[in-house]
Amino acid sequence: MRKGGVTEAAAEKSKRPRAAVVYHPAKIDLKRLKAAVNLVLEPFDWQSTLWLPTSAQETGGPQAKRALVMGATHLVVAGGDGTLRQVVQAVHDKPVSIGILPVGTGNILARNLGLPLNSVNTALRRALLGELRPIDLGKAVMLFSDGKRLTQIFTALSGVGFDATIMINTNPKLKRRFGWIAYFDAGFKTLPAAFEHLQLTVDDRAPRKLKVHSVLIGNCGFLPANIKVMPEARLDDGLLDVAAVGPRRFHNWIALLSRVTIDTRFMHRLPGGTELMRVTRNVKTLENLTGKHIELVTERPVNIQLDGDPFGKITKVTFDVLPNAMKLRC
Ligand SMILES: [Mg+2]
Repeated sequence: MRKGGVTEAAAEKSKRPRAAVVYHPAKIDLKRLKAAVNLVLEPFDWQSTLWLPTSAQETGGPQAKRALVMGATHLVVAGGDGTLRQVVQAVHDKPVSIGILPVGTGNILARNLGLPLNSVNTALRRALLGELRPIDLGKAVMLFSDGKRLTQIFTALSGVGFDATIMINTNPKLKRRFGWIAYFDAGFKTLPAAFEHLQLTVDDRAPRKLKVHSVLIGNCGFLPANIKVMPEARLDDGLLDVAAVGPRRFHNWIALLSRVTIDTRFMHRLPGGTELMRVTRNVKTLENLTGKHIELVTERPVNIQLDGDPFGKITKVTFDVLPNAMKLRC
């Protein structure tokens, strides 16, 4: 074939979409997943799908960048919250859409988006062929006690304080089994927690001092068990939501979280649930806070987590919303 013909053929080929699946090999039945992707893409003349497993050394970001170099236009993340965060951080500003195949037990973003958790075919169809929906991301600039500084992206939720300590102390087996959201909930109910003294500043409002177990910064809501925290938080409103977690006991921390809704039918079925409802109804909740820029300064080094990944102890962190920063396909 003439050289010109080859170039033209290559150019024509490169216009065709290309899917790339970044997957967590321990959480995926690869044979089954390949069959499902082939089924979804069968009617279309796309380029061959790229398959990129994550590893302990490369947890998703390098794979996503490699996929782009190889011409990927549609990324699918088949992994947990950690893998998704790594991929989003690496390529959210590149010309590629990102879809989610929820795998594992956390999937906080997928749950917020109402993605199917138990249907691989439906989830894949939405991740590959669904509409483009830009959503916000959170950016955290962390200052650690040793003076180091680190900037990281999160998709759903960050926490400073006891919730991050739970992540660090979580037995990996338990985390795999119950997911970090469930463990978070369990931790608050059962583990002794210290108070942290934090100074919180939201946008240009006056700083306020908090004595809390945790401060949660949400790009979207948060759903341990049947309880929804920050139900008004939206993934595309250009705002981050703040919730402060106060006292240790379960009914108290529910009451003091801002923006909490409880599935009342669920609560009434719980042992003591009705009593819990009666008690919490009368407890004053903290002020709800939303903003574009949030700053936290701690009195002593405090643990931080982003989408369930612990990062160590910070003395200061700023959070900024990045509006419409992720080209989500769902
Ligand atoms: Mg928001």
